[in-house]
Amino acid sequence: MPVVVTELHEVGVTVLSRWIFNCYVVHDGGAGRPLVVDPGLTSTTAAAVELVARLGQEPPVVVATHGHVDHVGGLPDLDRAGAELCLPLRIRDYLDGEVPRGPGLREIAKVRPVLREQRVDLRPLLELARTGRHTGLGGGTARFPMGADHWLADGDEVPGAPDWQVVQAPGHTDDSTALWNPSNGVLLSGDAVLSRRGRAWFTPELCDAGAAARTEERLRVLPVGHLLPGHGRPVVGTGLMDRALGPGERP
Ligand SMILES: [Zn+2]
Repeated sequence: MPVVVTELHEVGVTVLSRWIFNCYVVHDGGAGRPLVVDPGLTSTTAAAVELVARLGQEPPVVVATHGHVDHVGGLPDLDRAGAELCLPLRIRDYLDGEVPRGPGLREIAKVRPVLREQRVDLRPLLELARTGRHTGLGGGTARFPMGADHWLADGDEVPGAPDWQVVQAPGHTDDSTALWNPSNGVLLSGDAVLSRRGRAWFTPELCDAGAAARTEERLRVLPVGHLLPGHGRPVVGTGLMDRALGPGERP
């Protein structure tokens, strides 16, 4: 099954997906440069590199919403392609020796409804097994061989993509981050908010429920018109955060 390409013309975003894994290309981040978010798979990253070349602009700015391999596995490839890489500031603590926390297997099992919603394609898992050996958070360690050009803190404007604001969104992991565009109401939520059956779903896959509750409070009040989640299909519509399911609700 090849990479599935979905165009969201109204907001200038291309979604590159395989099974539940989404990589987003914002055609213009606000300064004439594309913004690539969550290049997790080798295959979606290759599609993103091709698309960015077709757009014919300057090298892209790249953001990973957190350090899990399904969001950072393609960073070395984008680094080689000349992209500018931005990672959540919290990852720096892990490179300094702090042990990263993440959801356990019981937590991961809670998101099965999202996995079941789309046609299963297991090849992405092989890609992740390969890249995960040298890139990303896992097994209590942090591996980022390509480094970062910028570290993103809460409230920052994304360097080179000034339409986008950094919103810290811990809960799924401590480094979880979302990107918010107040001018067109697009929220790139990473794994803080997933989707199921056309509704936003605050992830139940957590390592810190207290932090997740504060993240939910913060994200719910944003006037989101397009929710672009790390996993699951995009959700479009007014009031979609009011209708969002909490982590304890089953879609
Ligand atoms: Zn993920």
